[in-house]
Amino acid sequence: MVKSKTNNQKTKQPVPAKGGSASGGNQSPRPPVVVVLGHIDHGKTSLLDAIRKTQVAAKEAGGITQKIGAYQVETSGRKITFIDTPGHEAFSKMRERGARVADVAVLVVAANDGVKPQTVEAIAHAKAAEIPLVVAINKVDLASPQDITKVKGQLVKEGVVVEDQGGESPAVAVSATTGQGVPELLEMIGLVADLLELKSDPAGELEAIVIESSLSSQQGPLATLVVKKGTLKVGDPIFAGAVAGKVKALIDDRSQRLTGANPGDPVQVLGFSAVPAVGATVSSQESVVSSRAEEPSRPTDQLTKQPDNQTTSLNVILRADTQGSLEAIEAALAGLGTEVKRINPLLKSVGPIADSDIRLAAVSKGVVLGFNVPVGSSAQRLADDLGVGVRSFTIIYELLEVAEKLLSGAQVLEEEKKAPEAEVLATFTLHSGDVVAGVRVLNGKIKYRDRINVFRGAPTREAVGVPTEASGAGEEGPVHEGRIRGLKVGKDEVQEAKAGQEAGILIKPDFEFKKGDRIVVI
Ligand code: GDP
Repeated sequence: MVKSKTNNQKTKQPVPAKGGSASGGNQSPRPPVVVVLGHIDHGKTSLLDAIRKTQVAAKEAGGITQKIGAYQVETSGRKITFIDTPGHEAFSKMRERGARVADVAVLVVAANDGVKPQTVEAIAHAKAAEIPLVVAINKVDLASPQDITKVKGQLVKEGVVVEDQGGESPAVAVSATTGQGVPELLEMIGLVADLLELKSDPAGELEAIVIESSLSSQQGPLATLVVKKGTLKVGDPIFAGAVAGKVKALIDDRSQRLTGANPGDPVQVLGFSAVPAVGATVSSQESVVSSRAEEPSRPTDQLTKQPDNQTTSLNVILRADTQGSLEAIEAALAGLGTEVKRINPLLKSVGPIADSDIRLAAVSKGVVLGFNVPVGSSAQRLADDLGVGVRSFTIIYELLEVAEKLLSGAQVLEEEKKAPEAEVLATFTLHSGDVVAGVRVLNGKIKYRDRINVFRGAPTREAVGVPTEASGAGEEGPVHEGRIRGLKVGKDEVQEAKAGQEAGILIKPDFEFKKGDRIVVI
């Protein structure tokens, strides 16, 4: 990947004149924004600290550093901005609102531990974000040259081919503890960023992204932004979704007060009227776009166009109970598509469907399909909140059938969400003689006053994973139709109960529930 281009970022960022040209005018190089990903304990935090430390030593005039969620370093005349919260959970949270946060990802792999599940997830996240990877093989102070070679081999299996093996991804051996290799890593990040030719107009309209926010008891709402376009200045009006404000102060990672922040710069902002959401886009005008950014991005069309514009693909996060079934499903899915429509298995792993799968699906506009694995209740809730299609199957054929429908553009997983469903776990008779059903909500939200059907006996078709046209229509038809007249979670009367929650339901006309009944909202 790093072959020909030379450093094009030596020029200092010009501070724009007042009333500068519209965006598209005076494009200047801007520093890259880098995120650090990798498996837990592989040294992400230590590496971020080591990188920051090289600078503090080099720049004594820099003042006291403070953690604001991002920092900037300078190497060979280039500035590089690092997001100081490592890990793909934080990264995908930033991306959930559709913001393009980072330009380059550093993948940290401990040489003495090798590629691990979160390494694989991190690769999938970088792939979904379409950003280049620089591999940092860390803890080389504890490892042998053979360990490093082994890591490179493991990475190839995950689709990351490092440069010295003929691939595209640069790899640098580092030690966060001794500092070995850190300058080379920075150099490499700079070279990769040069190839991206990142440019922005400092005089253009402001676009910044909230990467961290909090409420300080002394200073009020605080937010760290990375400026992507335009210049942020003290006194500017600012809008992040529904949160407005006026910049009172700008403070950098060395506790220096600034008058303005240019494209690529991280800066802490005082002056928001409330705490803005992480990932929200900040602009200097209240716009439809910025208020929409308050809402998590909802994948309305799961088929995404590929950069070549010829093919569309469906990003799928696959989970299965065993490695064997995972491989069988992957092979079958590969056979489903056509030349222009194909399934892109973004991440394949063994184990229950987790929150991280839902987040990856949300940011990659994909779906999560499972085989013989449970959908965790928190994963289901997150999927509902983010509008992500998720389903687990017990029959491979049915999984393939749904994948094929999704590939043809049908929103089969979305449709299912329209019929919230609950299962009766127990029944209680009140003094009044009314029978209350103690239920677990299986999917969607059940609301007070919803109209419902009650099914008994053969489970509804959804329960075994087959989508139905009229959701909830079991083989036998409903045994009762009614309306929810009482809804409690714990001791509290509530307006709604969500997937994963247990609730008490009273319906009218009175009906005698039985354990195992299924309640489906009409
Ligand atoms: P993270 O979970 O990926 O952020 O990992 P940390 O940065 O917290 O590091 C996990 C552990 O590995 C800590 O005990 C670090 O001191 C140690 N560690 C990190 N980098 C290195 C390294 O290069 N060499 C050695 N020997 N230990 C390291």
